[in-house]
Amino acid sequence: MTGVVGSRPAPNAQRTTRVGIGYDSHRFAPPGPLILGGVPIPSDVHLEGHSDGDAVAHALTDAILGAAAAGDIGEMFSDRDPANKGKDSIVMLGAAVARIQKLGWRVQQVDVTIVAERPRVSSHRELMRARLAPAMGVDTDAISVKGKTNEGMGWIGRGEGIACIAVATIVSADDSADVAADR
Ligand code: MG
Repeated sequence: MTGVVGSRPAPNAQRTTRVGIGYDSHRFAPPGPLILGGVPIPSDVHLEGHSDGDAVAHALTDAILGAAAAGDIGEMFSDRDPANKGKDSIVMLGAAVARIQKLGWRVQQVDVTIVAERPRVSSHRELMRARLAPAMGVDTDAISVKGKTNEGMGWIGRGEGIACIAVATIVSADDSADVAADR
C-alpha cells in the first residue's frame, strides 16, 4: 500500500458520477489457453504476465480504480509479490470493486475494446460478460465488450500481443436512495 486513499462522493450530493479509463497490453507466448475477460479461450498461445495475463480484466480494474482516483492495479497487486503469481484476474477486479465500494461508489457500466488480430472476440463476448458481471456487481447489460483488429499494423498487427482499452462509469452508491427520498 502506497498511501492511496481515493476520493469519496461529495456528502449530501444527490448524484455523483465519475468516469475512469484503463489500458493494458500483454504479449502472446505459447502454450494456450488464452484467458480474456475471465474466459479460457482455446489457443496455442497465452498472455504472458505475472498473473494470468487477462488484459480485459486488468484494463477494467484500472478504469474502475481510476474513476475513484483510488490507485491502480500495479499498486494493489505488485508483480514483485509471489502471492500474485498466476493470480486469477477476476479476483483482482473484484478487489478493486470492493475498494471503490468502501469509498461509497458502485460500478454503473463499463465498455472495453480488445485490439488484437486474434482471437475473434464476438465468439466469446457473452461468456466474458457473464463472467465479468458478478465480479463488478452489475448486470450483463451494463457490460460492453468489443473487438477490433489493428488492420495488420505494428506489433498488434504482427500478432505479438493484445491491447485493451476500458472505460468505467461509477456512481455514488446511495444514489438510488437519495433519489427515492426526494420524491
Ligand atoms: Mg496486465
